[in-house]
Amino acid sequence: MRYEGRVFRPPSEHDAYILQATIGCSHNHCTYCDMYRDKRFRVRELGASLEDLQLATRAAGSRIEKLFVADGDALVLPLDHWLPILAGAREGFPRLRRISCYATARNVLDKSDAELAQLRAGGLTRLYLGPESGDDVVLRRIAKGGSAADHIEAARRAHAAGFETSVIVLLGAGGLERSQEHAQHTAALVTAMDPAYFAALTLTVVPGTPIARLAETGRFELPDVAGLLGELRTIIDCARPTDAVFRTNHASNYLPLGGRLPADRVRILRTLDAALAGAIPLRPESARGL
Ligand code: SF4
Repeated sequence: MRYEGRVFRPPSEHDAYILQATIGCSHNHCTYCDMYRDKRFRVRELGASLEDLQLATRAAGSRIEKLFVADGDALVLPLDHWLPILAGAREGFPRLRRISCYATARNVLDKSDAELAQLRAGGLTRLYLGPESGDDVVLRRIAKGGSAADHIEAARRAHAAGFETSVIVLLGAGGLERSQEHAQHTAALVTAMDPAYFAALTLTVVPGTPIARLAETGRFELPDVAGLLGELRTIIDCARPTDAVFRTNHASNYLPLGGRLPADRVRILRTLDAALAGAIPLRPESARGL
């Protein structure tokens, strides 16, 4: 397959065919993110995306069950790109059961209800939304490009159009100074966005990013591991999604957890408390990834 630069996808799309219909991220300002800094955002030529679908169809079309459309906020694609891509995928992959992409709140809010409904009807199933925090102070500091209210509205409109949403939050995004507010407001945001899937990742300060420069000059300090797990504990304890699959299976996390919320809350909190007490080994720093 033909890819430009590094390509990222959520852990649950590890077995998906990845189609790179956009290059980079149209926002590309989040202070902690270095995923697409080496790319200048552009929509890939539609003919090239459709050609890739045909190549994938010939190579493995009958085996492909999931399609993930990259890069960083592919929902930004206009409908005259999305609809032929969705049609090509339906035609080429007879066993297809999921099409997903990353989306910012802005991407969702910039689409009309009718456009969202067309995308859903065309087969786009799941949106991965990464508000990272529910605290507006933190959201401004990390230059997320949307407030908590924007993310809540984006989730509401996505659900109304029939999408399932997967919400990603980022432990440590508020730094030590804003750790408590970050955790509490993030729990409230998860409750309000009410996703079907909910994942927590842990912030890694990547050299060269704006947040790394803040860290170097003492203006940002990541909580220690106990502080990060404490944030996770607050989020799990206080978030009240209707019924969400919860995971911390991303390589950035110190403690892989999983279950349903709220059904498994007590069990997950017990595991977290055992880890905080040192009774469960944490992923060593050397084994963590971005
Ligand atoms: S929206 Fe996502 S991909 Fe784009 S800069 Fe922010 S974190 Fe990175």
